Amino acid sequence: MVSLIETIKAKIDVVEEIGLVVALRKSGKSFQGLCPFHNERSPSFYVFPESQTWHCFGCNEGGDVFTFVEKQQGFDFRDALLYLAEKAGISVEEYGSPNPEQERETNALKDRLRKLNEDATLWFHQVLLRSKDAAEARAYLQSRGISSESVMAFSLGYAPEQWDGLSRYLLGQGYTEYELLSGGLARAREAGKLLAGSGASAMGREQSGGVYDYFRNRIIFPIRDVRGRVIGFGGRVLGDGQPKYLNSPQTPLFEKNSVLYALDMARDAIKHAKQVVIVEGYVDAVIAHQYGTKQTVACIGSAITEKHIQQIKKLTKQVTLALDPDAAGEAATEHGIQEALKAFDRTLVPVPLAADRRFTAQKGSKRNEPRGMIRLEEQVDAEINVLQLPAGEDPDELIRRNFSAWTYAVAHPLPLVDYYFVAKTTGLNLREPAGKTEAAKRLLPVIGSISDRVKRDAYLRKLATMISIEERSLNDELQRVLRGQKPAGVVAAFSDRTSQRRSIKGVESVGESPLQGERRASKGEPRSGAEPGESEDEESGRDFQANNQRERESRTFGLDKDVRNRIKWEDYLIGLLLQNPGLCPHVCGIINDGDFAGTDTRELYRIFNSVYQRDSSPLFQSFEQFVPSALLETVVRARKSVESRSPLEGSGLVKAAVQCATRLKRARLLQSNTELQYLVRGATEAGDVAAVQQFQGRLLDIHRQLRTIDSAMHLQG
Ligand SMILES: [Zn+2]
Repeated sequence: MVSLIETIKAKIDVVEEIGLVVALRKSGKSFQGLCPFHNERSPSFYVFPESQTWHCFGCNEGGDVFTFVEKQQGFDFRDALLYLAEKAGISVEEYGSPNPEQERETNALKDRLRKLNEDATLWFHQVLLRSKDAAEARAYLQSRGISSESVMAFSLGYAPEQWDGLSRYLLGQGYTEYELLSGGLARAREAGKLLAGSGASAMGREQSGGVYDYFRNRIIFPIRDVRGRVIGFGGRVLGDGQPKYLNSPQTPLFEKNSVLYALDMARDAIKHAKQVVIVEGYVDAVIAHQYGTKQTVACIGSAITEKHIQQIKKLTKQVTLALDPDAAGEAATEHGIQEALKAFDRTLVPVPLAADRRFTAQKGSKRNEPRGMIRLEEQVDAEINVLQLPAGEDPDELIRRNFSAWTYAVAHPLPLVDYYFVAKTTGLNLREPAGKTEAAKRLLPVIGSISDRVKRDAYLRKLATMISIEERSLNDELQRVLRGQKPAGVVAAFSDRTSQRRSIKGVESVGESPLQGERRASKGEPRSGAEPGESEDEESGRDFQANNQRERESRTFGLDKDVRNRIKWEDYLIGLLLQNPGLCPHVCGIINDGDFAGTDTRELYRIFNSVYQRDSSPLFQSFEQFVPSALLETVVRARKSVESRSPLEGSGLVKAAVQCATRLKRARLLQSNTELQYLVRGATEAGDVAAVQQFQGRLLDIHRQLRTIDSAMHLQG
């Protein structure tokens, strides 16, 4: 069966899809336009219809239609899949489902509940605007400074103090009690007894059926998903009722701990401002939007969770927490920081070993000095900071009282470490020895976690000044703390000659210089040795995959041979990683997810990295639980790819993984090389000297990278 992803790709043309948001001009065999991901005046963004890929030679972003939609719309893979599937007219749930009948039913219910929510939103809104019962609600909104434009824009509403106003209306519209209950808009009456506690008299008239309204006497904030569809409601009580805030219960549409209020309206502003501000309350978010800081969302429920952050991390890497400045708010801030740190991907950054470290690392090897010793350091791929509010003032109060103070705070949030300097020393007497010791004890681990040496030294100085202690003795203490922490990085030697030379033989065509390879690639010929199995190291030189499978795939995949080969190697690499997660540090310094040719393998590699970074336990029995069902068959394929070969262990395993990753990186560079040479020709014909120069600069850069790879692997033999 052709995979869901391939089916979607076959139905959606990358040129058409990108053309919806980028003005594209045909230029030879490709299309050209201004990059939507960085600011530029002359176009360096290209779409290649033949390979159905795109690449920006300005900011170096690129990929296929999935990558484009993810980046442009701020979707994660799952959302991009749903979005593109819907466009292609394919139902994701039904596709390949073991129980299509049930899937269809679930989908039908969800559609019905969306409609129900829209109708309820309208009803609440009309009641707020027109009903005389809503006078107090209107007065309340006015007292909080919410304008009538905001009431409209956010479709705010009011649930009157009746037992079944909404239920009766919706039942009258043809919805069933079951639908009202499933949508979280009504509760079931308990059989045989009237509503406990509240007294039957409040129910007034006769009851319409077996249900009563979930929201009563509350201001209603409809909650929309990122695509603007109402999925649930938040209700703030009028007066002193409890609870003060009541949100929709869990429904097929509403997942309580993952919803960000106003995300649909904030999406573009977040991308534009390159920042998201997270506040605690509905009113905070509405007021922030009303005054113009539209990059604001509110986190629903009590605490920020990883799921909240997952939804915004595609939009921006700068998360500013603006939580209430009380003790609970501080705890929430700390919690939010930890969740945000968890949710963002870690990138492993290669850092050259400092001289002293290199010395220790070399002790074992006497003559054969390993070159290129690097340390891979884990860095969170995000900037998390904290917005400081005046004591006792909520965001909405500050915005209304002094908007310029608010915008200044938004533009200058406290970096995380500075926030910790304040938060962790509050209440300590820094003039007393005990206070100084405690401050150092709390802050040194924070300072130790900074990977940038210059920054780390600067913060150490700051702490020294703050508690009036000599920097040198503080540094000694820091070293002790660092030794106590688990090592932040792994040491990988990429070019230990003796151990790798033998294995290199035959992996890539020996004796061919990178430039020879490029010439061939530029003519569109696949490189020799690109076929997995034809080229493997002696220990396990057996066929990679059975011939018949290869044939079958070549029929089903509408891909050219080169890409098919790359995907096979990608399967193999993913398979190796799943079997031996410890290989990750060896591989991730060589390639990143952008180097993958397959949409599915790329996403799996990304998921693998984020799971691995979070929890580097040796076995991934449950890796599948992190994988969208559309990718499960790729996981099976990847595992099979490894199982079909003779088992490797120890250095052989590392070698295989490193070679595979290097091969993929090389293939990616060769592809860029082909594209660039092609663009150079086009620009030369058009007489665009500046563009020719720009592309040639890029070409040189790629040739340099190819040479680095080849010399690291000693390919010249
Ligand atoms: Zn760009």
